[in-house]
Amino acid sequence: MLGLPETIECCLFDLDGVITQTAAVHAAAWKKMFDAYLRERDGEGYAPFTMDDYAAYVDGKRREDGTRSFLESRGIDLPQGSPDDGPGTASVFGLGNRKNELVLKLIDEDGVKVFDGSVDYVRAARDAGLRTAVVSSSANTRQVLEVTGLTDLFDARVDGVIAAERGLPGKPAPDTFLEGARELGVAADRAAVYEDAISGVQAGRSGNFGYVIGVNRNDDAHGRRLAQYADRVVHDLSELREG
Ligand SMILES: [Mg+2]
Repeated sequence: MLGLPETIECCLFDLDGVITQTAAVHAAAWKKMFDAYLRERDGEGYAPFTMDDYAAYVDGKRREDGTRSFLESRGIDLPQGSPDDGPGTASVFGLGNRKNELVLKLIDEDGVKVFDGSVDYVRAARDAGLRTAVVSSSANTRQVLEVTGLTDLFDARVDGVIAAERGLPGKPAPDTFLEGARELGVAADRAAVYEDAISGVQAGRSGNFGYVIGVNRNDDAHGRRLAQYADRVVHDLSELREG
């Protein structure tokens, strides 16, 4: 009992906010980084980065895409820079690297919590003979899976590092999920996508996947936006096992 159509043969899980409770860590790091930048740029009267900004422009995207998307929303035009830019550099990559330093510091200090309902669900899916992949924009996916002991729950991993190596565009483009299905040897219309970000359910919809599940860890308004693209919206994957 997994709450899926009978045609589904594999499950493609986002990581942050679906399997692990790291979405809040990322949101906090984005806010700290952008607020520091905006304060430097605009002085004390700066308009802070909000959780609505996080949901609309940043969540689920590759670091550099999220950075550029939020800056554009404020009419700020920074050079792209290079992936090696130091965290103090005023470039899209520099700001993204500053955010990543903050995330790694928070993970190091506080560890990573998982959603137990999700871990149980992944185990149940595997027991039912479905293949599983983790599909995340995060470049830290491998480390997060290792520290949480979840590496063996997934037959394939498509993350920020692999996407960069293979030149795959990030969510909301469907390419990373399509790559996950391909690695599992399953056609997209026989794959289910599990996502908590708007950009992620958009990727699921545009890739014509067999079933798209929105996981709402946020408020009702976020749930309604997820429902525009998802076949079903739940608050926790345990709901899917109840039918
Ligand atoms: Mg997510």
